[in-house]
Amino acid sequence: MTTATHYGADALIVCDSLVRIYQTDDVEVQALQGLDLLVDEGELVAVVGASGSGKSTLLAVLSGLDAPTAGRARVGEWDLLAMTAAQRVQYRRSTVGFIWQQTSRNLLPFLSAGENVELPMAVVGVRRAERRRRAAELLDSLGLADRAGRRPAELSGGEQQRVAIATALANRPKVLFADEPTGELDRATGDEVFAALRQANDALGTTVVIVTHDSGVASQVRRTVAIRDGRTSSEVLRTGAGQPGREFALIDRAGRMQVPAAYRRTLGLRDRVRLELEQDHLGVWADDGQEEGGR
Ligand code: ADP
Ligand code: MG
Repeated sequence: MTTATHYGADALIVCDSLVRIYQTDDVEVQALQGLDLLVDEGELVAVVGASGSGKSTLLAVLSGLDAPTAGRARVGEWDLLAMTAAQRVQYRRSTVGFIWQQTSRNLLPFLSAGENVELPMAVVGVRRAERRRRAAELLDSLGLADRAGRRPAELSGGEQQRVAIATALANRPKVLFADEPTGELDRATGDEVFAALRQANDALGTTVVIVTHDSGVASQVRRTVAIRDGRTSSEVLRTGAGQPGREFALIDRAGRMQVPAAYRRTLGLRDRVRLELEQDHLGVWADDGQEEGGR
């Protein structure tokens, strides 16, 4: 079944028809409904979608916190559906860093910023001198050198999130996942946190996946993927930060494509549309109810 050319063979992160169903008593919620997503090594991607669209579920699956119901999910060498519990722990320690929306969830309140950054290294047995050195280097690179001795409560929300980024980077993860990392911050502070995530991506080459309901972040990253009802639906690519982006619709391997709601409204596209294949594009018209050719 595994061939050299299968879907996403070259990508670092592959989600292939990913399904996650939550079963609670008599209710079944399909949080992910066949989601496809590829992320290349070194990319910085924002996944944007309304509340309830499945963003946190996606990140929980990708970071090894939650197991999908069906489909395929791979990060690097790790098959997220086939991992044992021990492999899951190993994966979480070696490959991923995670940043939560709630600033208080990312850091231990009774440790200083520096001690927080050292903690994940202590867990995997890095020696003390090396921990110190690396923590100082990370805090310095994120503009927090003079904050190392402070506890989280003595830091602003934006500083806490930047310490959280340093902590997540401590063990040199391949991927950084951030779930609404700027959700509790005002715009200016949120932009600082974004700059820190961009820096982790630029300076360290860490692949970064950010999920957010704030479509304004699209201007902060080169690639934005939209998620709706547990599926990826469209994406915007821009050549540089601040540049206008080109919007692309995603087409899955069964040929399904989602037409943006604004286009559907403007052209009255619903239920059934007329397609016409042109030499270099596809025409889509509202169904006017006319049968063609007198049939
Ligand atoms: P988002 O992060 O985009 O707001 P979530 O991934 O948290 O979306 O949730 C997607 C859907 O799955 C929602 O309908 C939510 O209510 C449901 N859901 C999430 N977690 C659970 C859970 N543990 N049990 C049952 N339903 C859940
Ligand atoms: Mg969420």
